[in-house]
Amino acid sequence: MPALDDHVLAVPLVDHHVHGYWLQTRDRGRFENGLNEANVEPLAAFDSAFDTQIGFAVRAHCAPVLGLPRHAEPDEYWARRSELGDDEVARLFLTAAGVTDWLVDTGFGSGIADLATMGRTSGGRVGEVVRLESIAEMAAAADGDYADAFRRILRDRTASAVGTKSILAYRGGFPGDLTEPSAADVRDAAARWRAAGGTRLTDRVLLRFGLYEALRLGKPLQFHTGFGDRDCDLDDANPLHLLDFLRNSGDTPVMLLHCYPYEREAGYLAQAFNNVYVDAGLSINHLGARSPGIIARLIELAPFRKVLYSSDGFGPAELHYLGARLWRNGIGRVLGELVAADEWTERDAIRVVDLIAHGNARRVYGLS
Ligand SMILES: [Zn+2]
Repeated sequence: MPALDDHVLAVPLVDHHVHGYWLQTRDRGRFENGLNEANVEPLAAFDSAFDTQIGFAVRAHCAPVLGLPRHAEPDEYWARRSELGDDEVARLFLTAAGVTDWLVDTGFGSGIADLATMGRTSGGRVGEVVRLESIAEMAAAADGDYADAFRRILRDRTASAVGTKSILAYRGGFPGDLTEPSAADVRDAAARWRAAGGTRLTDRVLLRFGLYEALRLGKPLQFHTGFGDRDCDLDDANPLHLLDFLRNSGDTPVMLLHCYPYEREAGYLAQAFNNVYVDAGLSINHLGARSPGIIARLIELAPFRKVLYSSDGFGPAELHYLGARLWRNGIGRVLGELVAADEWTERDAIRVVDLIAHGNARRVYGLS
């Protein structure tokens, strides 16, 4: 499938959910931990992140970007990475990703590349995705009425942002009441939260309030769903629990991120609601050589105009590149098989690649 293969290799990507890379990786232990999403502790002494799908994928696909042979051994890889230094490693990976636009979740962490650094290092454009829980913490610290402060800060912080993001999955999960709370309930909950210090929002009323303010804003609202670290109860991050919320969500685009292992459930929601979109960011990186499976499952039911690309890269700059590399390989393989079986035409396959790579993101986020 030469035309499809060539197209997939070169197609420009919009990475619609990504974070800054670590400015300093420091030591190999931290690097290897950066290749593990779910475990919040240092890896066990007997273990190595190189002995995982993502570790093998780093050796297969990232090693050549650093001038090493494909499948370079872990020690050789780490030595080369250390020799080049973090700045050069980041430059190599971000420019090799073929990403024209990075939509960056700026919600957490210090010591990571900010928007300007992401733009400078990659040569691409950057857009900001603002976390609702961060807005809530700013509103808790502000003077006066909480709801007014939240609305004002949300408006100011998103004036130049492309979207918002909720980590409700990490703050109690999706099951339960997700209707809009009354003004009186918001006032009482805010008073309680402020009295308790106003940090790390877990109050359900205020979390619900933030979601509806984001819907009213109208910019795409991203949700962490599925796979994450173990602080998030995976059962409660199943996007099917968002059904009632989605029924009330109007026209504002809702972006279901990561999705694994609920990509089929997410695909169903993308079919069921005009405003629901899905991606397999993060999951593709961690599934490595098995990622064509999730790419295939995501497009079983989800309409092709509702699927987006993201890496969810955070930490090691490898992840900003690897997501793109694995997605290109995976979509090429999955669609190539459909064309070879004469189920799809090559022309249609190329058109769908364009939709997922950048077309859908440009439309939903209003990118030029
Ligand atoms: Zn993320």
